[in-house]
Amino acid sequence: MLAIGLSFLASAQAPSITVVARDGRKPLAVTAINNQDYIAVDDVNAAFATTSREDRLAGGLTITARGRSIVLTENQNVVSVAGRLVTLPAPPLRRDNRWYVPADFLPRALSVALDVRLDLRRSARLLIVGDMRVPRVVARVDAGANNVAVTFDITPNTETRVNPQPGRLIVQFDADALDLSIPLVPSQALLAGITPGDTPSTVAIALGPRFALHRVTTSQPDAGSGRLTIELLPATTDVAAVPAPPAPAPDTRLVIPTQGPSTGLRTVVIDPGHGGEQLGTQGVKGTLEKEITLSVARRLRTLIESRLGLKVFLTREDDRTMEPDERSAFANNHKADVFLSIHANSAVRPSVKGAEVYYLTVERADEEARKRADANATTLPALGGGNRAIDLILWETAQARYLEQSATLAGFIEQSLRARVEMSPRAVQQAPFRVLVGANMPATLVEIGYLSNAEQESQLATAAYQDQVAQALLDALIKFRGFLEH
Ligand SMILES: [Zn+2]
Repeated sequence: MLAIGLSFLASAQAPSITVVARDGRKPLAVTAINNQDYIAVDDVNAAFATTSREDRLAGGLTITARGRSIVLTENQNVVSVAGRLVTLPAPPLRRDNRWYVPADFLPRALSVALDVRLDLRRSARLLIVGDMRVPRVVARVDAGANNVAVTFDITPNTETRVNPQPGRLIVQFDADALDLSIPLVPSQALLAGITPGDTPSTVAIALGPRFALHRVTTSQPDAGSGRLTIELLPATTDVAAVPAPPAPAPDTRLVIPTQGPSTGLRTVVIDPGHGGEQLGTQGVKGTLEKEITLSVARRLRTLIESRLGLKVFLTREDDRTMEPDERSAFANNHKADVFLSIHANSAVRPSVKGAEVYYLTVERADEEARKRADANATTLPALGGGNRAIDLILWETAQARYLEQSATLAGFIEQSLRARVEMSPRAVQQAPFRVLVGANMPATLVEIGYLSNAEQESQLATAAYQDQVAQALLDALIKFRGFLEH
């Protein structure tokens, strides 16, 4: 296949452009000539009900659209549209007895003659006719240790709906078509792939073998666009404690520590997991995680206040909805020396049981960000003149500075719990729990047992078990205070 003529080398079949119009979609064949997308005039005529007539002597072509004439001249970048001159990025060409126009002819010249908007979206290879709703949708995938987040940035903001189907989730956009950009996703445990859906306004998310459930959040990063995030979660984690994807950072997330690493224990913030609309996990007999966690938090507060005389604050005193970042912000604002988030767990297998203690996983990139943040402590002008260096710590790196202390605290909690309640085989673990990310102090999350285990559900609901857990956490705090003050 070496005998290819030179003129042939310069042109090649290119991916077609899809014309999206009120009456449907149709492909428009594209030929790449000299690295430009060209469309045969015959195909333009077929797609837009125009006609054309060649004047061989003048070397020209006249296209008639709704009674208006577009006059083209071979190899001339300027065309006349109903007497007006329009410049094209490349000239019309005549090859093998066919005329070709560059793709920009459609929005620049044909649109004027037809008196209709023609919007050429190059990267998506779409030509949008008239007032069609074709939002730009850019998908990305962020894989965490325990979840995968699929995020769609949508411009302009468009209503969406996520419909579960066997083996996949269908994302339906309130649109006529999508100007879609999706990444190639290697098949993985939670996510097998992302593809355009069966209809022009849908996207299909193929689910992996470990997928158990999804969680949808929407936000508006700016006035002109919307964001849809679908978290894919496995079955065996405490769903509501799994981190939400990083949201755009409001100002309150900038953390200004008033002290360096903790050197004493004066204030404890206890975070009863979930609350309000967030039920957390639920046992078969109906026991709600959000109620257990509040009850344990109150018992622990009473113990700490009476036995250690420390200040204790609960992130919530009642049954209210709170975001993970609000909880750690509460701890930061109260200058807590320790942050304890209390949860109860659930697993698919009912036999799984035992308490677990978590501290934050920090991924490599975050660790590097932390080093950079430390190296670039910001200098602000101080009252009364002069400069005072204060550490402005980005929210996402706050907990990273306390990981060693958090690991120590987790170890003390594990020892104390083990003396009083049954432990899971994986008693201390690291996980990317969102509620810990912004905590600017040693912080752990304690899963006090499994509500999905019938025996544990009964235990967890009793005052006796809750008191054992609270006593164990108090014992751990006493050890940790000794460690800080050694
Ligand atoms: Zn929980």
